[in-house]
Amino acid sequence: MGIEEGSAEARASLASANRIVVKIGTNTIMRNEDSPQRLCGARAEAVRGFEGGIDVEYLHRAAAQIAELARAGKQVIVVTSGAIGMGALELGLSRRVTELRMRQACAAIGQIALMDEYRRAFGVFGLTPAQLLVTRDAWDNRSAYLNLRASVEALLEQGAVPVFNENDVVSTAEIGNAFGDNDQLSAYIASKVDAEVLLILSDIDALYDADPKSDPAARPIPYVRELTAEILASAGGAGSEFSTGGMATKLKAVAIARDAGCKVVIADGRERRVIARVLAGEAIGTLFDAVHALKNRQRWIKNSRPQGSISVDQGALAAIKAKKSLLPRGIVGVEGRFGRGDVVLVAGADRETGAAKVVTSLSSDELERVIGRTSAELEAILGAGAPKVVARPEETVFLEE
Ligand code: GLU
Repeated sequence: MGIEEGSAEARASLASANRIVVKIGTNTIMRNEDSPQRLCGARAEAVRGFEGGIDVEYLHRAAAQIAELARAGKQVIVVTSGAIGMGALELGLSRRVTELRMRQACAAIGQIALMDEYRRAFGVFGLTPAQLLVTRDAWDNRSAYLNLRASVEALLEQGAVPVFNENDVVSTAEIGNAFGDNDQLSAYIASKVDAEVLLILSDIDALYDADPKSDPAARPIPYVRELTAEILASAGGAGSEFSTGGMATKLKAVAIARDAGCKVVIADGRERRVIARVLAGEAIGTLFDAVHALKNRQRWIKNSRPQGSISVDQGALAAIKAKKSLLPRGIVGVEGRFGRGDVVLVAGADRETGAAKVVTSLSSDELERVIGRTSAELEAILGAGAPKVVARPEETVFLEE
């Protein structure tokens, strides 16, 4: 594979990034180079750094590199996995924890152990870690979304290092349907805080043009400009002992980050000084470029879970695609219960997938009363001062964009 156009510039731009999100996967942060059986069978007393717990030396090396970046005036946010794995070790569980309530119990125990090590390791380098446990709700609710953003800004202003994980104790996301995994969580965070770079560190060192496990001729792809169908097809399944991510979830994360104009690097977390070297522009792993970005509010709309859906006729779909407002006239059906200001899906009546997400100016009850009516009729039906349109073009985001 030759040097692709844009690759050198994109790598060089990493060196000037000011706001960086570093995602550290379970297999990177835990000592698991031995067989999975040994990791699972390890006893609770092993947790403090040896025989399968957190790799304290690794965390120290990561902290040293983050401290270097901080000294250079950069802001670093960490997204860490490892809570469930740590909890499982402390409980001496001998097999993969799959039952939801047990994963939650493991997360509750393991998160403290995890942050304890962060505090210790970061403290050596004069860094103050701050724990942020989040659920999908902080993205779906606009005021929670803005609040979280404000607290991250305050932490960064104070020179602290925000360390995120999913609040696995109350969120069923790892198994259910919310963030899904920390790869996607890290991308949502990068998007929320307008990070310029998301560095995903795991045991996957790059995106390959074929499955490297089964094809010895598979070659790493150093630079990806567009997420083409071919690129998406190169992602396999995978995931391991305690973690949930594979290449497919990493590519979903890339798509989320790219919408925010954030470049993503996927690299082997065990590569020597990987954080410092990637952020100095060295060609390690795969760099996914970000060539266009959605505005902040549009990103929020796109990243929110829809509270319901509105089916529209072809005319209405064509109109919103042409950047016109969504009017009640073109609506043919309303599903779910939602209020004014909620994010809902808008889909063509004959399509199963959503075409767009919009912020609706009318609740589901109101919409049901005005289906198929003209805008002029709205006030007569809903009362004076009722909104004239269902969604404005600036509150409409197409999902394929
Ligand atoms: N939140 C999980 C944990 O801390 C990890 C999820 C993931 O590996 O993607 O254990």
